[in-house]
Amino acid sequence: MKTKRCTNSSCRREFKLETLVCPHCGKQYPRANAGLDKNKHYAEILTYCGPSKLSTIKVIRKHTGLGLKDAKTLVDYTPSLIGKRFRASQAEALKAEIRAAGGDAMIVPASRGTKGVFVLPKKAG
Ligand SMILES: [Zn+2]
Repeated sequence: MKTKRCTNSSCRREFKLETLVCPHCGKQYPRANAGLDKNKHYAEILTYCGPSKLSTIKVIRKHTGLGLKDAKTLVDYTPSLIGKRFRASQAEALKAEIRAAGGDAMIVPASRGTKGVFVLPKKAG
């Protein structure tokens, strides 16, 4: 069962990832995909790598298929573009897993520019 840790500093207890209200302290976690159009694509930006870079790297690799080196580079250079063609549900799942790993991410329209965000250089060939 996947869990996340409550961000309420006086709580910090774990609960089920899909729960929208912390059962311990009552802090609300609004469903983050409210407002996302499931027919559109979204870019996702890693804004914080979290205390365990390795956990965040694993989540990124799972969702992008990136190699270890590329995933590590994204984690090392936050804010960084994880990908720009995620379906809404996948973008949400990725964000939730990054948060569960202790990091944070931001979902933005795929059409948005990537100014100020690190982007992996394109591979030759
Ligand atoms: Zn709580």
